[in-house]
Amino acid sequence: MNELEKADDAASTTSGNLEGSRFHTALQRNRSFVAAEGHRGGVVVPNLGLIVITCLDPRTDPALFLGLGLSDAIVERNVGGRVTPEVINDIFFLAQIGELMGSEGLLYEVAIIHHNQCGTGFLANDEFRRRYADRIGVDQSGLVAKAVLDPVATVVSDVELLRSVFADPARIAVSGHVYDVETGLVTTIAPVEP
Ligand SMILES: [Zn+2]
Repeated sequence: MNELEKADDAASTTSGNLEGSRFHTALQRNRSFVAAEGHRGGVVVPNLGLIVITCLDPRTDPALFLGLGLSDAIVERNVGGRVTPEVINDIFFLAQIGELMGSEGLLYEVAIIHHNQCGTGFLANDEFRRRYADRIGVDQSGLVAKAVLDPVATVVSDVELLRSVFADPARIAVSGHVYDVETGLVTTIAPVEP
């Protein structure tokens, strides 16, 4: 049995009949990935030393617009690509692993990328925000600031927040960028500190 047949076999035995599943097409592409040995060469420490924070919008996949290959970067995506307490905790976690491995000098550059036409803009709508706040059980007043209406302004704000937490740019550097979903262009708004 060759690799492709093994993958087909594994897919059919572990997933059952996926003909009616939305995942079916993705699974077929996985078989091509296996056939092309796309998983080979993966490493735990990313090749570019980058952590990319961006929105979960399907138009803003950094693997595509930044040409990231396997193991090139650690990518964290959430609503808006915002710096949340969870994102901060994850960077602490990654930094601690880097320290454990004896990394000296710069551990990571964190590139925060916000984009235009972001769906978080709905959070500026009073009715939408109130209903969402009710659903997730938070006070709605804090959600206004999560709306990316002006990606230049919000990315600067999130860069400043992250720099206030990770105060040593020689270990964790932070940069901020805006992605334009209409042109595909990434513009750097806040370069890493010199
Ligand atoms: Zn978005």
